[in-house]
Amino acid sequence: MENNRRDFIKKSALAIGAIAITSSIGKALTNSESFEKENPLLDGGKYTLPALPYAYDALEPHIDKLTMEIHHSKHHQAYVDNMNKALQAADGNVLGSPQTFENIFDKVAKLQPALRNNAGGHYNHSMFWQLMRPAKSEGNSPEGKLAEAIKTEFGSFEEFKKQFAEAGMKRFGSGWVWLVKTPEKKFVITSTANQDNPLMKLDSVEVKGVPVLALDVWEHAYYLKNQNKRADYIASWWNVVNWEMAENLFSPVK
Ligand code: MN
Repeated sequence: MENNRRDFIKKSALAIGAIAITSSIGKALTNSESFEKENPLLDGGKYTLPALPYAYDALEPHIDKLTMEIHHSKHHQAYVDNMNKALQAADGNVLGSPQTFENIFDKVAKLQPALRNNAGGHYNHSMFWQLMRPAKSEGNSPEGKLAEAIKTEFGSFEEFKKQFAEAGMKRFGSGWVWLVKTPEKKFVITSTANQDNPLMKLDSVEVKGVPVLALDVWEHAYYLKNQNKRADYIASWWNVVNWEMAENLFSPVK
């Protein structure tokens, strides 16, 4: 009887946590209600791997099928599985509730590295897949308010691309490049190590704010096709950037 009651309390708490987590990532990614319906991240209180919004070969020839398949089904899956394990092992007194990404990223400096690395890995990759799409027949550049903001901040789209690619080249080892909207409404290119991101309250995260664009520069994102040539991978990636998604992140739809 007591065990049943404890199970029930545990399951209820997980369910509440699940709703909060889904809501949190949906809000953080797009502020759009439809995002959560289209991209369920949870199943029965645990994180699950979100389906890609396109086929593994959809980004060819810019990003190859095998890289996408391994990156999504092996690497991202491992972050999801290890995040679930890290959450179970986490000190509830430190983590508190709800178990949202927001809460985890707020307290990340006090949490164990496994939770920092794998929650970051899950969040970053979920965002990264959404920020790509099959290439258009010609050209690929931002439009609307985002295009205006890029021009105002960086002078031109070409200059922005140059600075973003440079940030990717300068990131030593593994990490991410970001375009971030800061709380001061500034628009800044930055990079983070490993699976850290601009939402994490860490001294080592130099620019904090809302990610608008995310680029994975870990070798696992490009080694099969580009080997050691990270610059080639970044040059290819511009063809498959989903600028509509970036625009949604930049000026969230209600
Ligand atoms: Mn990756």
